[in-house]
Amino acid sequence: MVTQTTEEYVATRRIGDATVTLINDGIFDAIPLIPWMDAPADAVRRAVPEADANGAIGHSGIIVAHVRIGHASILIDPGVGELDPRSWLVTDLKLRRTRGVQAGLAAVGIQPEQITHVLITHAHDDHFLGATVRRDGQHLPRYPQARYVIGRADWAGNPAREDPDSAVALRLGALDRRGLLAVVEGDAAIVPGVTMLPAPGESPGHSIVHVASAGDHFYYLGDLFHHTCEVAHLDWVMAHRNTPAMMAHCNDSCKNGPYCVNRSSRCLWSHCHYGFRQRPLR
Ligand SMILES: [Zn+2]
Repeated sequence: MVTQTTEEYVATRRIGDATVTLINDGIFDAIPLIPWMDAPADAVRRAVPEADANGAIGHSGIIVAHVRIGHASILIDPGVGELDPRSWLVTDLKLRRTRGVQAGLAAVGIQPEQITHVLITHAHDDHFLGATVRRDGQHLPRYPQARYVIGRADWAGNPAREDPDSAVALRLGALDRRGLLAVVEGDAAIVPGVTMLPAPGESPGHSIVHVASAGDHFYYLGDLFHHTCEVAHLDWVMAHRNTPAMMAHCNDSCKNGPYCVNRSSRCLWSHCHYGFRQRPLR
């Protein structure tokens, strides 16, 4: 765990009648952005002057969102949970933990039992491992009253399920066996004002989340983008990902510039290093 820094925070904003709280669950200090980007390395390097000699960037957060709207208490991405120090997220990407999602929720008065929905943007480790908690060798739902929702292709068609030791099989499987996992396809209304929208590319079932309330809007973009350079260069995309599908929502969700670029807009991707007006998490 890092000591308290400006990277460790919880931040809340009203979106119409909804309340959106952002919590930073961790900081990556070595994302190999330039090697991963399918674009000329010299052009990417000019656009990412902060990259180190290996083309890696630091200070990339894992920002999860909580939405309180009507009677719903919705967590968007449960983060990494209790991280195994042998995980490649730690050894390769140099992930440092903050105090984490639980502390962030507690800071705004929310207990795990109060969460009604957990929306999982996609089945990559840094976004869903925190969905469950391990007790006595068993994976149990961390949010016991919640309905967990994920894009169909990240569960039904996910080849990781064939490996019984994969995090997908162990953790999402544990939720599925308890009847807590729901899959969605196409635009999926979760509760009035909250919709999961398909934005495949980062993974086949990757989804983004739109919150609309009283004429105000917030988009949680998951891994639609990883860095501002991808917004400025929409033809650049991380290797092996489906650019057209990924960018289908781009004009809609980013027409005012993502939050990292323009603080007056209401869009945010997961690995931003800050969002809203941050305050330290105590
Ligand atoms: Zn990610």
